[in-house]
Amino acid sequence: MEPTIFDLILQKEIPADIVYEDAHVLGFKDVNPQAPIHVLFIPKVRIATHNDLDADNIDYLSRMHLAAKEYAAEVGVADEGYRVVMNCNGHGGQTVYHIHLHFLAGRQMLWPPG
Ligand code: 5GP
Repeated sequence: MEPTIFDLILQKEIPADIVYEDAHVLGFKDVNPQAPIHVLFIPKVRIATHNDLDADNIDYLSRMHLAAKEYAAEVGVADEGYRVVMNCNGHGGQTVYHIHLHFLAGRQMLWPPG
């Protein structure tokens, strides 16, 4: 698999505004934020799309959600609410093929999404 821009961020080869890090997950601000708070949580292993989740790597998804939950509390939006979403492939709007959980907060989210 070709490395993605997120591999370079993980390897600290290009800068990112990192807001969360543990042994398994990295969280950093989206370069093109769609809400006052827009953070991407990524696994520290390459999983290209939601379709590539399996019994061996599914723990990363749990850890990404836990990281997002902790971050929501840290930035004080847990009670007012936020959105976590993952895009998959073309119709899902995925552009970077290293799974990432979008964490969006700080404004009223709309439904259905565009
Ligand atoms: P997707 O469309 O794949 O769900 O989301 C990819 C996200 O990555 C987009 O929201 C885009 O703004 C963000 N992104 C793309 N390249 C970079 C980058 O180099 N740095 C950061 N921080 N975010 C990026």
